Amino acid sequence: MTSGKIPDAVIDAVRKQHDIAETVGKYVHLTKRGKYMVGLCPFHSEKTPSFTVTPEMQIYHCYGCGKSGNVIRFVQEMEGYSFPEAVRVLAESAGIPVTWASSSQGNSTGQDPNEWKVIEAHELAAKFYHYLLSNTKQGERAKHYLRERGMTDRLIDQFMIGYAPEEWDVLSRFLDGRGYPLELMASGGLLSPKSDGSGYVDRFRGRIMFPLWDRDGRAVAFAGRIIDEGQPKYLNSPESMVFTKSRMLYNLHHAKPFVRKSKSAVLFEGFMDVIKAWNAGVKNGVATMGTALTEEHCVSLRRQAEEVILCYDGDDAGQAAVHKSIPLLQSAGLKVLIAILPKGKDPDEYIEEYGPEAFSRLLDDPVSTTKFRLIYSRKSHILLKEEGRKNYLMEAVGIVAELDSSTERELHLKELSREFDVSLEALKQDCHEYRMELQKKKPQRDNNDNSWNNGRNEKRRVTRASTLLPAYATAERRLLHVMMQNREVAEDVHARLGESFHVEDHAALAAYLYAYYAGGHEPDPARFIETLHDERLEQAATAILMMDGGFPFDESVMEAFIHEIMKVPKQREIERKREEMVRAERAGDALLAAQLGLEIIALERQLKN
Ligand SMILES: [Zn+2]
Repeated sequence: MTSGKIPDAVIDAVRKQHDIAETVGKYVHLTKRGKYMVGLCPFHSEKTPSFTVTPEMQIYHCYGCGKSGNVIRFVQEMEGYSFPEAVRVLAESAGIPVTWASSSQGNSTGQDPNEWKVIEAHELAAKFYHYLLSNTKQGERAKHYLRERGMTDRLIDQFMIGYAPEEWDVLSRFLDGRGYPLELMASGGLLSPKSDGSGYVDRFRGRIMFPLWDRDGRAVAFAGRIIDEGQPKYLNSPESMVFTKSRMLYNLHHAKPFVRKSKSAVLFEGFMDVIKAWNAGVKNGVATMGTALTEEHCVSLRRQAEEVILCYDGDDAGQAAVHKSIPLLQSAGLKVLIAILPKGKDPDEYIEEYGPEAFSRLLDDPVSTTKFRLIYSRKSHILLKEEGRKNYLMEAVGIVAELDSSTERELHLKELSREFDVSLEALKQDCHEYRMELQKKKPQRDNNDNSWNNGRNEKRRVTRASTLLPAYATAERRLLHVMMQNREVAEDVHARLGESFHVEDHAALAAYLYAYYAGGHEPDPARFIETLHDERLEQAATAILMMDGGFPFDESVMEAFIHEIMKVPKQREIERKREEMVRAERAGDALLAAQLGLEIIALERQLKN
């Protein structure tokens, strides 16, 4: 992605105004460790922090998943922005005038023009439907229906609830009149093609319309509820270029500031629950739309929250969904709690019956996942029978055994011991055995196999890195590490070695670095990275910058590195000749083998000098 029309001066100003530690700190809890700051990576799930920021160089790097870059790249990754979008948002928040693209265009974000049109049409349709609900005779019945179900005018406005009339072509005519291509509108999910292929009709008719927004608050789809009896009760927009169910979290854009503040999100099963909870004062609620929770949902939640409270229906299906959602959320690194509703009640009904205060209390006092799993397992056993009790106890001890805290384990075991009149010692013994089993089959949970920065592994990483890489590659990395921070060294290496680094990425980085210094720039790693415009190279550069810079460096060390790199072609030639020699010996050609042996000795002698 190139920086396009955005002037370099603006990009520089944006980076200067946004300190990397401060910006990352809004999303990740960072702890200072020497000249680095570390935290749990927001881009992959892990339990020991691999995500490292260096304020000195204004860059970040994750040793687990390899994500890295400067502050602009971080905001791009975090918010899913394109480069110009990220620069724009950062500029605006720093009060830097956004003057590099004409605002009359509407779309300066580099988004596909068709997508843009479809979103624009959704925005218009939402307003249109909302108007029809609030101001027309047709909308009255829908409004009456909503009021009966506890929707105030304020809620209707806030959630832009609307009404799609019974007619076939109200929206199609509306969009046609404004020059929107109907075929595009159909693929965007607002219209449906007529069965005889002669045109298009409205997809939603005779329904109460709830706009669905993306996380930036742009309408991208609808959920339509039928007023009278009829099927289906709820009709959602189909997936389109702007709407993906597996990513959609209803109300995320409204909830975001509240979620960020409390670090906690409430996850509901249905969007109506979100609206009713909002009305009851719960502002950090979101819901999935017509699909089970996905990994993408979890990643999206993890970007805003540290904890998720599941508030699903109290029926069996709801509780089964909770059971399934827990591991997904946990593996995204979220703490999970569960608000348990009385059997058969959904949040909407609960608020209706017990009032908003009772609902708030319920959310203030959720149960742990262990507690939930115990309750859930209990329901599947008949405790009146000896056999059922025994089976439940075994399952329960298994659940408790998964807890890392021995205090928590003991508390749960005590409870079980009291309730089922079994000795605590026996339960503890069983629990211990479960844990031994677990230990045996436990996979490495974190996907960072070199989580060096949890302290005790630090030594291991250093020795590993140096044994894994050939000497010349280590030399190249160390040279680049210094070169990116020291112009003189870069110029020396340029004169001596040029671009003849042997690792492809290293050669490319050297070339970019020479160009960077030739352009009159001062050493500034975060800025240099900006000039690469290539994610792989950015990651390579950041990883090199982040490597342990504790090695000694002076002119003689530089010489040694350069020597190490320059001797690679000779070493390769020696290897080639050795293979040839072996082949010659096998073929019984003693003369050729001896000849090659001499050549090898000569080459080795040259290497020593
Ligand atoms: Zn990571």
